[in-house]
Amino acid sequence: MAKYRYHFMRFPEGKPKAITLSYDDGMSQDIKLVELMKKYGFKGTFNLNAGAIPSEGFIPEKDKYPPRLYASVCKKIFTSDVAEVACHGYTHIPPGMVPSAVFAGETINDREALEEIFGGIIRGYAYPCGVYTDEAVEILKNAGICYARTTVSTEQFDLPKDWLRLPATCHHNNPRLMELAEQFDTPVKRDARLFYLWGHSYEFDDNNNWDVIEEFFRRLGGKDDIWYATNIEVYDYVRAFERLEFSVDNMRVYNPSAADVWIGLNEELIHIPAGSTVNL
Ligand SMILES: [Zn+2]
Repeated sequence: MAKYRYHFMRFPEGKPKAITLSYDDGMSQDIKLVELMKKYGFKGTFNLNAGAIPSEGFIPEKDKYPPRLYASVCKKIFTSDVAEVACHGYTHIPPGMVPSAVFAGETINDREALEEIFGGIIRGYAYPCGVYTDEAVEILKNAGICYARTTVSTEQFDLPKDWLRLPATCHHNNPRLMELAEQFDTPVKRDARLFYLWGHSYEFDDNNNWDVIEEFFRRLGGKDDIWYATNIEVYDYVRAFERLEFSVDNMRVYNPSAADVWIGLNEELIHIPAGSTVNL
């Protein structure tokens, strides 16, 4: 019977929830944040301005701005077990305030320089100052960027629909942070949930509130039903799920991608290995 069979996306290993972090600018406080992420088992994305990474040994003018990390330090701390490196504009120029060609250059130059430093293929982005325009979206698309984070907070756990205008669940200074964490930590019956947290690690020093992130990590760390992932891991997984091909009677599904995918079918959890067809 094809009737009354509802399916919902599940994350790797069938987990119904995912958490990802997004932190900007590559400041020295990222060292402490990464240590805490490792301690509590969280993963996230660090958005860097390649043109603002100081030369090795350069000491910035005192108190002018928080010192940014050297490339050698970034390479040491942003390892794939905990972090993804993404673009944030070569020199942090937001779109809409400079000619399109300048914004295009900012994007490509950042991507190229970061790929040279870190290797791999960098496809993530966070808008400098959170500013985004329709034209910027087109430029990012043409520059091979897959997702771009805004500074919009939804206070929801919905999966993103528009990846190039990607909103967050909230900033870590949101007064409802722990309330949202409680809400997130309840059983999932239907749609998968994503908690997307963003901020700047230097804000923890500025506001003397590292306890905020530790409390969040303690509350939601080490949960069997949560997948702790970087932004691009979430993006790639959702894309793989979206590529599933179902028979018209909803009794068979084919997974054409190179990643295993899980779905919740009514009460059942179904594993669809990469490249295979499964009878439902
Ligand atoms: Zn920034």
